Amino acid sequence: MSTRVGIGYDVHPFQEGRKLFLGGVEFDYPKGLQGHSDADVLIHAIADSILGAIGESDIGHHFPNTDERWRGVSSLVFLREIRAILDKRGAKLENIDATLISEAPKIGPRLAEMKAKVGEALGLSNDRVGIKATTNEKLGFLGRGEGIAAMAVASVTVKD
Ligand code: MG
Repeated sequence: MSTRVGIGYDVHPFQEGRKLFLGGVEFDYPKGLQGHSDADVLIHAIADSILGAIGESDIGHHFPNTDERWRGVSSLVFLREIRAILDKRGAKLENIDATLISEAPKIGPRLAEMKAKVGEALGLSNDRVGIKATTNEKLGFLGRGEGIAAMAVASVTVKD
């Protein structure tokens, strides 16, 4: 067995008239994120970190925005699909850790729910799912509240 790690990063701009989903949880907020699926930027970063750990192409390759199947879909579906890819490879996801970068909305009160949703989709216990949030200290496009970014790492053990 050997241990692999992967990194993921994503950013989506805000868009009026859309619902906001982060970590599979819907937020009561006046705007959502622009994207083909539910645009859950946190899940997209996590998905890319896992795919990266096993040397797979990124989320855009596996779930292209030209495919109607993924239009408006919950990004939790992507995590379940990726879990199936891991199973097929005989790979085991050990843990993920992710950080949301956003001035608003307040993430803290919803973190436990987000961890539960992501953990359930990935088959990970609570202690193997890290989700944190920080602001961008009012700097740049994130600081001006134009969108939300997320970064993530994943650890996977594979059979050699
Ligand atoms: Mg994305």
